[in-house]
Amino acid sequence: MSRILILGGGSAGTILANQLGGRRDSVTLLTASMEHLFQPALLYIALTGANANVVRDERRLVLRSVKLVQERVTKVDLNQKLVEGSSGERYTYDRLVLATGVRTDPEQIPGLPAVYREFGNYHSGIALAQRLWSALRNFDGGTIALGQSTPICVCPPSPVEGILLLDRLLRRRGLRHRTRLVLFTPYPRAYPAQGINSVIEPLLKERGIEVMTFFDLDRIDTETKVIHSIEGDEITYDLPIIIPPFFGPDINFEPSEVADPSGFLLTDRETLRVKGFDSVYAIGDASSLPTSKAGVGAHLEAKVVARALRGDRAIFNGRTNCPMDLGDGRGTFVIGSYRTPVVPYRPSRLNLLMKHAMARMYWASLRGTLEPIFDLYFWLTTPERLSRRRVSKGA
Ligand SMILES: Cc1cc2nc3c(=O)[nH]c(=O)nc-3n(C[C@H](O)[C@H](O)[C@H](O)COP(=O)(O)OP(=O)(O)OC[C@H]3O[C@@H](n4cnc5c(N)ncnc54)[C@H](O)[C@@H]3O)c2cc1C
Repeated sequence: MSRILILGGGSAGTILANQLGGRRDSVTLLTASMEHLFQPALLYIALTGANANVVRDERRLVLRSVKLVQERVTKVDLNQKLVEGSSGERYTYDRLVLATGVRTDPEQIPGLPAVYREFGNYHSGIALAQRLWSALRNFDGGTIALGQSTPICVCPPSPVEGILLLDRLLRRRGLRHRTRLVLFTPYPRAYPAQGINSVIEPLLKERGIEVMTFFDLDRIDTETKVIHSIEGDEITYDLPIIIPPFFGPDINFEPSEVADPSGFLLTDRETLRVKGFDSVYAIGDASSLPTSKAGVGAHLEAKVVARALRGDRAIFNGRTNCPMDLGDGRGTFVIGSYRTPVVPYRPSRLNLLMKHAMARMYWASLRGTLEPIFDLYFWLTTPERLSRRRVSKGA
């Protein structure tokens, strides 16, 4: 019997634990918190004032056959196959999976902690999302600037979704004519992947949203209310909405070379093994994979590692499938893979319904009971199939 140790009880770790639980192996899941947050809901809490009832107890999400322990991991020695927790407890394993998500560190950007104290944000938990909603409720016109701190963003569609939902909110409140909306991005276009950018850019233009590209955030001067970029550009704001800088887990790794300078685990893009260690995998946001940091990716990666740990040949193909709310009752999806660049995906009401349906299915999806539905959906929407369809239609 092999001892499998999973670190992190978020989307990736919980799905994997449930896929492996009940089999011959012993499966232990260590997680820092028993509160499991459905993160995509933060967008709606912050920008529409939606209900914040989006946390469940991890103990109710994990199969009984999985040994679940609340433990903040502080050190992982990959050579000794030893994990240490903040409780002082030590854990050994035969195979290890790192699924500890991201960590945010606003202190890295001068002015950002003060911005969060006043305006909140929608990527760092419920309290800050609610703070942003209350700042928006008191907003009476001026400039709202929204953008990401660094090129790495959890849920890459979320900046564009944020600005489009803001546009809708302001129109409904009759404030749009006296509000300048600015989306700033370090990338050369509004959405990093050209395929979906060709869908998004005309919408932003139509709605009068300004886009500032090549804007690498340097600092925020909260006295003069100016956001400065490294390139020397400036945006004067009344309300700033700034996505935090993201980093890999706050864990002391031995050897330290398994993580990149931002702390993300160097992970083989197909096998999902941590470079140099055949019995160690990284999945979800904690990895350095060149794909979107998203729950859908975490889900697909968990499935690949579950198969690998069962002894099957399993390869991750880089599949992304991120839903995007366009703020006008329609949605689109960011769909691509390592082989096929993100395809332009026509906005529709059905796509938005699909996004909301997926959100409703989230808790059940962690248990693994909906896998046949997901498998069918992912098969019907493979990027290769979609791009073939476009070519045959002459798009
Ligand atoms: C605003 C917003 C909108 C989003 N929208 C979408 C969307 O529409 N579709 C989509 O697919 N994705 C979306 N996402 C992204 C999605 O939520 C994340 O990609 C997903 O949660 C990543 O899963 P994960 O398991 O890697 O990390 P997480 O779910 O963050 O879980 C990490 C877990 O590790 C634990 N942990 C951390 N450090 C330690 C430690 N030292 N020791 C032990 N445990 C630790 C944490 O407690 C947590 O349980 C969105 C995210 C945000 C913020």
